Amino acid sequence: MIIHDARFLTSNSRADLCPAPTLPEYAFIGRSNVGKSSLINMLTGRNGLAKTSSSPGKTQLINHFVINDNWYLVDLPGYGYAKVSKTSRAEWAKMINFYLRNRPNLMCVCVLLDSRHAPQPADLEFMEKLGEEGIPFVMVFTKSDKQSTAQTKALLTTYLAKMSEIWDELPRYFQTSAETKLGRDELLDFITGVNQD
Ligand code: GDP
Repeated sequence: MIIHDARFLTSNSRADLCPAPTLPEYAFIGRSNVGKSSLINMLTGRNGLAKTSSSPGKTQLINHFVINDNWYLVDLPGYGYAKVSKTSRAEWAKMINFYLRNRPNLMCVCVLLDSRHAPQPADLEFMEKLGEEGIPFVMVFTKSDKQSTAQTKALLTTYLAKMSEIWDELPRYFQTSAETKLGRDELLDFITGVNQD
């Protein structure tokens, strides 16, 4: 997919205030520091489109971007900030649950996972929730340039084994690097493919 236009549209605290669900929507989410902003900038080829690492405790918003005037890319607030209070965590859960249940145009959630980290409870729980809600998702393993191919392969094997304890059918997954652009074409082709189905 050639991206000839990528624009920031709105930031909202509530799904019912988000842009009208007239275009298919792909949401990106993950633990803080997983590389979400870097991935969005890499995919769109626009450095600075998504702001890198918002600090914990700051108001967390649902950010909509419109790509090629034919799909929405959504940057969702991340989870797993160590220093966040119970109240903020509950507010995050409320916002995300409401978002997930109220976007009829949501085609797929891209759950970002750091290629170097063993399966984390917060990620596994989030993916289980998506399963319970019947929301399609894929796993995107980020920062794969930070270690050897063999190390990434070993991590993926562990990850998929852990997922198969929960899932009968494993979700699709991608390996990416914002540095080398690994996975860019695959992920964008996947989005185009889902769009055309
Ligand atoms: P976010 O908090 O999930 O939006 O994460 P950021 O995109 O801000 O990235 C967190 C840190 O990881 C930054 O220092 C990035 O430069 C770095 N980073 C993100 N993606 C990659 C990647 O693919 N490769 C490498 N080497 N570093 C990355």
